[in-house]
Amino acid sequence: MTEIKHKYEKNLKYNLPDRKGFFGEFGGAYVPEKLQLVLKQLEVDFEKAWADDNFLNEVYERLKEISGRPTPLYFAENLTKHYGNKAKIYIKREDLNHTGSHKLNNVMGQALLAKKLGNKKVIAETGAGQHGVAVATAAAFLDMECKVFMGSHDIARQKLNVERMKMLGAEVIAVEDGLKTLKDAVDAAINYWLENCDDTFYILGSTVGPHPYPKIVRSFQSIIGVEIKEQILEKEGRLPDYVLACVGGGSNASGTFYPFYDDTDKVKLIGLEAGGEGVETGKHSAALAKGKKVILQGGVQYALVDENGNVGKSYSISAGIDYPGCGPELCYMKDAGKAEFYPVTDNEAIKAFGLLSKIEGIVPAIESAHAVAYLEHLMPQTKEGEIVIVTLSGRGDKDGERLVQYFE
Ligand SMILES: *Cc1c(COP(=O)(O)O)cnc(C)c1O
Repeated sequence: MTEIKHKYEKNLKYNLPDRKGFFGEFGGAYVPEKLQLVLKQLEVDFEKAWADDNFLNEVYERLKEISGRPTPLYFAENLTKHYGNKAKIYIKREDLNHTGSHKLNNVMGQALLAKKLGNKKVIAETGAGQHGVAVATAAAFLDMECKVFMGSHDIARQKLNVERMKMLGAEVIAVEDGLKTLKDAVDAAINYWLENCDDTFYILGSTVGPHPYPKIVRSFQSIIGVEIKEQILEKEGRLPDYVLACVGGGSNASGTFYPFYDDTDKVKLIGLEAGGEGVETGKHSAALAKGKKVILQGGVQYALVDENGNVGKSYSISAGIDYPGCGPELCYMKDAGKAEFYPVTDNEAIKAFGLLSKIEGIVPAIESAHAVAYLEHLMPQTKEGEIVIVTLSGRGDKDGERLVQYFE
């Protein structure tokens, strides 16, 4: 027997999605017939790889060497003191991953799957560029050809990441449709894939899109929650009372929450969405607070819609969580009452960004600062002896310029 070194949970009672890709009434694969066949094959290939401990060992080994896993679970003593020494606050340091966020956890899994399947070419979509950079990085060391689809509006506002992708050897393809942002980039990537699926693997970046992508991405990201569980048991000898994560498409939240899905009677799971300028202003990305149930990009989910029922515009100061929908698993978790979700405004996130930087010396991504911001509401309700864990999805190096603009 080979030694099992990987860190993936496979024995939960929670067992969604079902075989058709549904989390309750969310998810599924509403796509053209040709794509359905391709997705069906992907599902078979993924399930086979997921059952193979040698494959998972290889994914984990790469993440260890290249991304520095396991990331620390850091006791934020100053932050705990700041909130009056009530619950102890721990931070899961996904910001310390190579390329700056949790994205590589998923990308490494999918890129190694592509390689195992004999694909030499990968494609990806990107909004802010973080997923594109992670895919370009994996493609570089696995010696694969890489094309990244990106809306031309995003290309103009995320120059640094565009240059990074090019340096890593990727081709960045400007998408000129629609609002020229993330949603249009996903559509363009899917269309390209449909024509080139014989030799090309599509590495999707969040827990969205048609089945099996939400499951694949959540599975590879579940390494975050598995490590948290192991680390907190080692440090405190018990499970936490609260676990917090920010929510865009939902991958860092789903990955953080997943190993706790059998424990929701003891552990409160809380996701924080981008409330932008306030959900009452209409300028936000809070799909769970304000969305309607629609089919978006191949799956049923909550998404912001306009008065004509079309997918509406989203807004957030933070490009990484500026998305009009939310992954099907989190939509289900909300309706089933297994997790709670709250919007956090730009201003609250910026305040948390400053606080964490100044008192812990950790400059968070502005996306991640949304999760930190919720501590203002949560901490007064906690008691000494309780434990709060916040997943910090990424670091803030990329946000300096944007924040300077904001303050001006
Ligand atoms: C991409 C990104 C997010 C949002 O994506 P999820 O799929 O919701 O996790 C959050 N934080 C950072 C740092 C990101 O790069």
